[in-house]
Amino acid sequence: MKYIGAHISSAGGVEKTILRARKINATAFSFFTKNQLQWYAPPISQKQIDCFKYFCIKYKFTPQQILPHSSYLINLGHPVNELLKKSQALFLDEMIRCSQLGLNFLNFHPGSHLNQITETLCLLRIANSINMILDKTKNVIAVLENTAGQGTNVGYCFEHLAEIINNIDDKSRIGVCIDTCHLFVSGYDLRTEQDCQNTFKKFNSIIGLKYLKGIHLNDSKKKINSRIDRHESLGLGEIGTLAFSWIIRNQNFYNIPMILETANPEIWRQEIDWLRLQIK
Ligand SMILES: [Zn+2]
Ligand SMILES: [Zn+2]
Repeated sequence: MKYIGAHISSAGGVEKTILRARKINATAFSFFTKNQLQWYAPPISQKQIDCFKYFCIKYKFTPQQILPHSSYLINLGHPVNELLKKSQALFLDEMIRCSQLGLNFLNFHPGSHLNQITETLCLLRIANSINMILDKTKNVIAVLENTAGQGTNVGYCFEHLAEIINNIDDKSRIGVCIDTCHLFVSGYDLRTEQDCQNTFKKFNSIIGLKYLKGIHLNDSKKKINSRIDRHESLGLGEIGTLAFSWIIRNQNFYNIPMILETANPEIWRQEIDWLRLQIK
């Protein structure tokens, strides 16, 4: 199955995401399990958990189709121990929220070295953080997202993600989500069929397709290699429509959530319909 959707607002409660996803004809979605800009959030109530699970069954969303996104505050490679601990605590809390909702995945941006440590050391701190958190939780898979390489973010090349995975003790609980906008601005071309083939061939040889747990489908306002992360609606940016049509038709990308985080939520429904048309 091809699962296609978008990043849905969880304002007013996580259970509302499923109803909002249905409105745009989505068969996949992502959402924040808590306010993504605050360190503290009240726990999800039992009533909300029950309601979320009920809607999942009623509207036929399996955990395979849902890829929650963690808070932007989290930096699992933080160079300062005290602040690293704060990030680890929040990530642990979000992993527990996912597990309470009966979900399998939590998507996150790897981290930043903040010019205080080397990239290599930052990648090691990220892996250590994940190991510690996986040890304290069950079932939920931590899903690393490739980054645009803005500022001091690591994770802008496949080698970084492979290096983190390499240091994870339980490899059954680590995965990768590829964001097409981040790919493109970090230097991986997607504009022709050959470019798409080359890029995903590299992905397979450096990381391995078995780790791919989701794709963020975003066009880019900025040019290749610009390292600036600005999402655009499909076909209106520098990448163009070919890559999205290629990805959606590719046999390797069945049964994983494909999520729009494009610039205009008003046209998500049309973008989803357009993507579905490409499969036929
Ligand atoms: Zn993304
Ligand atoms: Zn982005």
